[in-house]
Amino acid sequence: MQIELMTNEETSALRQIIEESENIVICTHTNPDGDAIGSSLGLAEYLRVLGKKTLVAVPNPFPDFLHWLPGSNEIKRYDMNKAEIEKAFKEAQLVFCLDFNDPMRIEGMAGCLTECTARKVLIDHHPNPTIDSVVKVSYPLMSSTCEIVFRVIWQLGGFSLMNKDMATCIYCGMMTDTGSFTFNSNSPEIFFIISQLLTLGIDKDEIYRKVYHNYSTSRVRLMGYVMSEKLKVYEDYHASYFVITRKEMLRFNFKKGDAEGLVNMPLQIKDLKLSISLREDKDKKNLVWVSLRSVGDFSCTEMANKYFNGGGHLNASGGKLFCSVEEAENIVKLAILDYQEQLRE
Ligand code: 5GP
Ligand code: MN
Repeated sequence: MQIELMTNEETSALRQIIEESENIVICTHTNPDGDAIGSSLGLAEYLRVLGKKTLVAVPNPFPDFLHWLPGSNEIKRYDMNKAEIEKAFKEAQLVFCLDFNDPMRIEGMAGCLTECTARKVLIDHHPNPTIDSVVKVSYPLMSSTCEIVFRVIWQLGGFSLMNKDMATCIYCGMMTDTGSFTFNSNSPEIFFIISQLLTLGIDKDEIYRKVYHNYSTSRVRLMGYVMSEKLKVYEDYHASYFVITRKEMLRFNFKKGDAEGLVNMPLQIKDLKLSISLREDKDKKNLVWVSLRSVGDFSCTEMANKYFNGGGHLNASGGKLFCSVEEAENIVKLAILDYQEQLRE
């Protein structure tokens, strides 16, 4: 089994860049998920063990169900700490870009990244990265950025420095990006990595509970309400969508992250190939968040690109629409009709 991903040249280059850098920034995408936060915190802890001054910067808040992760209280949000983050980018000799492929994905922070003089290293599993970097560890077939971070640390000879906190963060992202190892997770290396993480003392059952069994009562009620009252299923096209409005969010005391995972639920319907969710922004008018999930070879990425100003992975993509929810719903219907041939099969 081969855990190493980088060429020898890339490995030496990365080792040298880390050695030469004192101040390091790690940044990750907007609306950070388990993989974004897990990979950032795992790598940050590793760099701190190496004695580096490391700052993790994210564009905006991350969900409550990740706030227990070791080190998460030191994450800086750009929407709250602009000056501090801008200074950190300016002073950094090295910037890691984790779990995103395009400067646009860090929104307001993009300028900090493109204008800073630090060397950049990309570690990501989204296709076609456009970030200018000296070392590019881009593997779209990997389960998660966390898996790649583990492999990079392993290849740098850093496993002996890995501790339970790093292992917990890395396991968390591998788990969340694979739906708890139910998709995109057939490679034996994933389970080799998990076995190594277990030797460091992680409690994977507790990690699962902390992430997935931490709903508020109103979140569970929202789940029931959406599946019962809001889900539209196109049986013939093996597709479904639902819309969550601002009014409904108020009714269910909606908190950031409460919609997370809802879009996966309709895929429990036999033979369903595509699930789409629409969520009105909590504050901004004419902004609707879109999530897409598919099974098999139906490309969410293509649909997200064509209809929803977004992208992502084959089976999981996202995007946004700048219109009312009613208009957004019409666009979803058009998109499903457009792909009916492929969906019918
Ligand atoms: P989610 O539905 O969880 O918001 O997003 C699913 C996946 O799609 C994310 O892991 C991310 O990779 C990708 N994604 C979400 N929004 C966007 C977007 O606006 N642009 C691109 N390129 N990818 C997105
Ligand atoms: Mn990811």
